[in-house]
Amino acid sequence: MSNLLIYNSLTRTTQKFEPINPPYVGMYVCGPTVYGPAHLGHARPAVTFDLIFRYLRYLGYKVRYVRNITDVGHLEHDADEGDDKIAKKAKLENLEPMEVVQTYTEDYHKNMRLLNCLPPSIEPHASGHIIEQQQLIDKILANGYAYESNGSVYFDIKKYAEKYRYGKLSGRNVEDLLEKTRTLDGQDEKHNQCDFALWKKASPAHIMHWPSKWSEGFPGWHLECTAMSTKYLGEYFDIHGGGMDLQFPHHECEIAQSVGALGHDAVKYWVHNNMITINGKKMGKSLGNAMTLEQFFAGEHELLEQPYSPMTVRFFILQAHYRSTLDFSNEALQASEKGLEKLLSAVKALETLTPGKTSSFSVSEFKEKCFDAINDDFNTPVMISHLFEGVKHINLIKDGKESLNEADLNELKKLYNDLCFEILGLRAEEEKSDNSEIIGSLVDMIQQLRQQAKSEKNYALSDKLRDELNRAGVKIKDTKTGYEWSF
Ligand code: ZN
Repeated sequence: MSNLLIYNSLTRTTQKFEPINPPYVGMYVCGPTVYGPAHLGHARPAVTFDLIFRYLRYLGYKVRYVRNITDVGHLEHDADEGDDKIAKKAKLENLEPMEVVQTYTEDYHKNMRLLNCLPPSIEPHASGHIIEQQQLIDKILANGYAYESNGSVYFDIKKYAEKYRYGKLSGRNVEDLLEKTRTLDGQDEKHNQCDFALWKKASPAHIMHWPSKWSEGFPGWHLECTAMSTKYLGEYFDIHGGGMDLQFPHHECEIAQSVGALGHDAVKYWVHNNMITINGKKMGKSLGNAMTLEQFFAGEHELLEQPYSPMTVRFFILQAHYRSTLDFSNEALQASEKGLEKLLSAVKALETLTPGKTSSFSVSEFKEKCFDAINDDFNTPVMISHLFEGVKHINLIKDGKESLNEADLNELKKLYNDLCFEILGLRAEEEKSDNSEIIGSLVDMIQQLRQQAKSEKNYALSDKLRDELNRAGVKIKDTKTGYEWSF
């Protein structure tokens, strides 16, 4: 179906992409823990796996893309210690935990739409899969790779390591882990400090908990992804993705859980995007450089010289290979902004070009180069550099210094459309102004319906229409002479 090569973090080799059950492809990506606004760190995995999703679909695969929402069990300090991130936020703001989850899930979705990331096929919540997680624990216990301790259940790394290699994904040595983390006083619930929780007994202060045969408690963070990926994609599936920071312990634990429960790895290709830095520094709250996507798009952060549009951010991310680090700096972003403008205006100009009698360069060779790049483990920076090379030709044709015959010109138009919009997922930003006319006439139409409802004294309907417009981002203000609206 394709010549796609994909780098597998597990084997540390680049392999030919061969799905288990073509044309179907199962892809699971670790989604956000929704306890705060979507931030810059969310953008890179989202764009990376959106590109992979788009490209696999473009190649004709039927992709089931599952990305979870973590809404329980992700504790603050590490997988097993500290407060639940969502429960902590709920307590701080006196909210029901599911209010926190709802608010930030919507915020995440809004930002993903702005980045033009396609929604996944399934977006399961951890809290909606407690039973599946408990069933997995039963299997792991039955296979002897877990133990119960004081109402909690822990994965037994030492026992597992007798038969399997714990650490094969992250390259860690299990002897070192067991040695370094040995519990000396025997007071701990765990046999070894590196054992991780599958089920945690809830303390009385803990507000999110469910009944189980072990205790009133909640699942360990790593478990949800094993439970939900295998539920929706089967015991063997093609791609598991996430940020590099998830390799250890999260993904390492996922492998142990699936081997412990099913007797085998579930994943064929492990794919990890590299991390972002800001002006050469790691991003973090304590470093004062953590920024939300909203701040970024609005230019409202002291480190930002200007706002950067969602498309600039998307293009900037795609201008680096997903396995390289990516440094956000004003200089680099401004270069991307200019580059994107140049590329998109060339695509627009391309649409208006007329064919000549002969072709002065080979479109099929050019096309092959572009696809060779993206087939080489999704090498978007090289592909984009080819696109810029093509821009030179487009401008020369425009100036009458080069030409393409009709078939070649049509081929080039299709190529730019496919690569820029379908695969890279770029969007012309002026779309907004093109749309504003359409939006205006739709608002007028809905306003007329509101007036009619009012004249029939159907105030419930009239208010509902106004609220729905509001929800869609259109603010309506009734004035004496009519109404005003803003977006
Ligand atoms: Zn995960």
